[in-house]
Amino acid sequence: MTSPSDDLAALAAALEGRPPAEILAAAAARHPRRLALACSFGPEDCLLVDLIGRAGLLIDVFTLDTGYLFPETLALWKALEARYRIRIEAAPGGAPPAGPGATPPWEVDADACCDARKVRPLRARLATLGGWVTGLRRDQTPDRASARVIEWDARFGLEKVNPLAGWTSEQVWAALRAGGVPTNPLHARGYGSIGCAPCTSPVRPGEDPRAGRWRGSEKKECGLHLRPPPPKAR
Ligand code: SF4
Repeated sequence: MTSPSDDLAALAAALEGRPPAEILAAAAARHPRRLALACSFGPEDCLLVDLIGRAGLLIDVFTLDTGYLFPETLALWKALEARYRIRIEAAPGGAPPAGPGATPPWEVDADACCDARKVRPLRARLATLGGWVTGLRRDQTPDRASARVIEWDARFGLEKVNPLAGWTSEQVWAALRAGGVPTNPLHARGYGSIGCAPCTSPVRPGEDPRAGRWRGSEKKECGLHLRPPPPKAR
């Protein structure tokens, strides 16, 4: 007898190496109207919006509007909605921006700031779904190296679909250019991975694309894609 996790592993093995559009379609069929892309407007997410929009897949798209996004990111949000005639909703429930004169929340405690503005609204939105789609790739961080194209997300309690897990950044950018997909103009100004404006800086040539996130601090993840540690050997 096979367990649900065996079934998911078998599905992941069957979908490994398949085109991302095929993986998206298989996941959408598995979770009718209960699948959504969490879009942070990075190049991978722009490509996934393109694939979803062009194929007319029944996959919702939402973002985490922290109140501290770059103006360029807000403009890209509108551009993608207009081009694909879709709505990219802001997940409700995030903490409001700090009032005038208050110490900026990312200076008080960046982890708490990310938790209040990203992790908690994400958790609430994911609670309504059977699966979520992400743009993560295995070569982005050591923590992501074991990601499968579809897997169980033990942290949030639903399936996680990573259609671009096996792709490289070069493959993503080639597909974006070929399709004329809108992307964030900040990439051309030296920004690698783009998050909130106060916590994102450009990267120097040769630096890791994520080196500009929370520069000068130990923090490297906002907490959305943290994977549970492997079980300890007895
Ligand atoms: Fe706050 Fe910075 Fe995290 Fe954005 S990236 S939620 S501003 S700590």
